[in-house]
Amino acid sequence: MENNRTAALRDSQGRTPISVVESGRRSEVFGRHVFNDRMMLQYLTADALKSVRAAIDANKKIDRKMADQVAEAMKAWAISMGATHYTHWFQPLTGATAEKHDAFFDLLPDGTALEKFGGGQLVQQEPDASSFPSGGLRNTFEARGYTAWDPTSPAFVYGTTLCIPTVFVSYTGEALDNKAPLLRALHAVDRAATEVARYFDKNVNKVQATLGWEQEYFLVDKALLNSRPDLLLTGRTLVGRTAAKGQQLGDHYFGVIPERALAFMGDLEKECTQLGIPVKTRHNEVAPNQFELAPVFEEANLAVDHNLLLMDIMHKIANKHHLKVLFHEKPFAGINGSGKHNNWSLCTDGGVNLLSPGSTPMKNLQFLTFFINTIKAVNTYEALLNSVSASASNEHRIGANEAPPAIFSVFVGAQLNQVLDELEGVSKGKLSPQEKTQLKLNVVGKIPEILLDNTDRNRTSPFAFTGNKFEMRGIGSKANCAKPMTVLNTMVAKQLKEFKKEVDVLINKKNLKKDEAIFNVLREYIKDSKRIRFDGDGYSAEWKNEAKKRKLSHPTSTPEALRNMVSKEALSLFAEMDVMSETEVMARYKVELDDYTMRLQIEGRVYSELVYAHIIPAAIAYQNRLLENVGGLKEVYGAAHKSFSEGQLTMIEDIAGHITELKKNVDAMNDARKKCNGIADSKKKAVAYGEDVKPYFEVIRLHADKLEKLVDDRLWPLAKYRELLLLK
Ligand code: ADP
Ligand code: MG
Repeated sequence: MENNRTAALRDSQGRTPISVVESGRRSEVFGRHVFNDRMMLQYLTADALKSVRAAIDANKKIDRKMADQVAEAMKAWAISMGATHYTHWFQPLTGATAEKHDAFFDLLPDGTALEKFGGGQLVQQEPDASSFPSGGLRNTFEARGYTAWDPTSPAFVYGTTLCIPTVFVSYTGEALDNKAPLLRALHAVDRAATEVARYFDKNVNKVQATLGWEQEYFLVDKALLNSRPDLLLTGRTLVGRTAAKGQQLGDHYFGVIPERALAFMGDLEKECTQLGIPVKTRHNEVAPNQFELAPVFEEANLAVDHNLLLMDIMHKIANKHHLKVLFHEKPFAGINGSGKHNNWSLCTDGGVNLLSPGSTPMKNLQFLTFFINTIKAVNTYEALLNSVSASASNEHRIGANEAPPAIFSVFVGAQLNQVLDELEGVSKGKLSPQEKTQLKLNVVGKIPEILLDNTDRNRTSPFAFTGNKFEMRGIGSKANCAKPMTVLNTMVAKQLKEFKKEVDVLINKKNLKKDEAIFNVLREYIKDSKRIRFDGDGYSAEWKNEAKKRKLSHPTSTPEALRNMVSKEALSLFAEMDVMSETEVMARYKVELDDYTMRLQIEGRVYSELVYAHIIPAAIAYQNRLLENVGGLKEVYGAAHKSFSEGQLTMIEDIAGHITELKKNVDAMNDARKKCNGIADSKKKAVAYGEDVKPYFEVIRLHADKLEKLVDDRLWPLAKYRELLLLK
């Protein structure tokens, strides 16, 4: 009888790939489905446009009359684009996006039908929020939550729905989503960075954080995937032997993109382009079937929305190509997992990248200011920043010698290290004229040349300076970038605020010149944050010891890392910068812990199902065949005869041994799970799951994989690695 796997294998062959989309100029269709500046100019009155612009540029509130006008215009545009419905598009704490569609269609009391959409519907909605995780936020006060329009991220038409990006907050004003804290953090960094940027250019009125993410993912044939309950339900393979050939030859990275993947990418890019997502780069990644997609960087809030939208589009387009996208950080054991590097910088309203050196010493002092303040911020809040990449799925990747280690550090490269060392030697207080010239010409002045040559790349660093931006590398491929962006920008905002204070004191009270004051403060920062700078091999054992000496945090489990979200320093940072109240942070902590527990709980259940319903039955079927064979041989030749093979007997016993171990460990794991389920406290439960349940997974996997090797290929019900990872 044919099993799911053999049927899927038959199905996955012989399919002709869908042809690559027609070529054409993408710039012509870019943003066609977005209610962007060009469309607003066309559809809005001058007054309405002005008020939307003021909301975007200066956080000004849009009054109800204007909102009505904007809604009317948005509706007219959306209907012209074929939209029949609208939705507030938001980011609950599940990490994904949520939407609830309403038709424009409405009835008047006299029964006349019309298309209706007013300012009220645009600005605020009240979705039934009771089923989203809130970490207890809603239970404490009011069960209701509402979504509110975020005019800084433009509305777009996706399919036949007008999507309006929104924040999601409770009636008492607490953020129930990932976007609201992000917007607050971006506001905080804008304020603090603008003040500091004005030391160098009085015309700066706004500073935006920029984000360029790099999305890694796997593509797997859908029919084959359907034979794997583990991939379907947990996003990763819980069992499975690594293929004889994986990534060891290094022949996939930057190799020719498989035809089916290319067809998928072509369709995907077309859709992204229309939706205004500036996708640019695509290539094969290290592991077979693994790819990366990167856009041109954008303002951070928009970039976060675009990444979430992209992940959604990827699932839809993949489906059309009979493929499945895996965003899990470690879908396959033995080959690389996936991450999502977050490239980050700060940019003024004049278009100046504050982490990019310029042509004058002053511009370079500006660069050094933002560069060193960022390093200082990371030094102060390394444990908090480290906690943002912790999750049940990313736990398989972080610290596993393919992704950043679990210890946080900053890589700046040999040349910039030298610059920092020289600056550290600057004398205190007033600088002599010679010292000033030396500094400006020889240290600060030479930075652009230095950076042109900044080619050394340390892939083991979790936070690397790469020429004109910092790159955060620990973020999981599945993650919502809102979280790392919220934390990083809040930290940097706080640091810049402190910096401004210190420099002003030196200028006003100690009579130092502005540049002298800046040099003085930076010199102290360089001294203070030395321990976070590390350019060596982050995977080495020496680094672990060294990091311990430097008192850097080194969480060894997700619950332990998550604790750093709610340290005293973290709570007061978020509160001081008006990003999250203690209640809001504690709620997120609880959501993350519960998520960790539930993921392990689901994996435990799937292990049970795999072992009892798939693996043991296949092993027994094959064992029976061997027994039949042995019985036959014995009958024909007699038990004493040479041809009565010992080979079969050992195999029968080996299979029996693995079956016994599987059953024993699955039963023990289930008992441990039941015990853990009785724990009420979120933190204790997560720790218990990690310590008492998770260790069984590896043991179960070991015996299951041994059986995969022993059992007849035709009887094995689960698609194997070599089949799953052979996309043509
Ligand atoms: P890689 O790191 O793969 O070698 P690049 O250094 O060219 O590639 O850029 C990686 C990502 O960095 C891209 O997604 C790009 O958009 C982003 N990036 C470049 N400059 C900035 C910036 N100033 N701010 C944020 N992201 C940026
Ligand atoms: Mg990169």
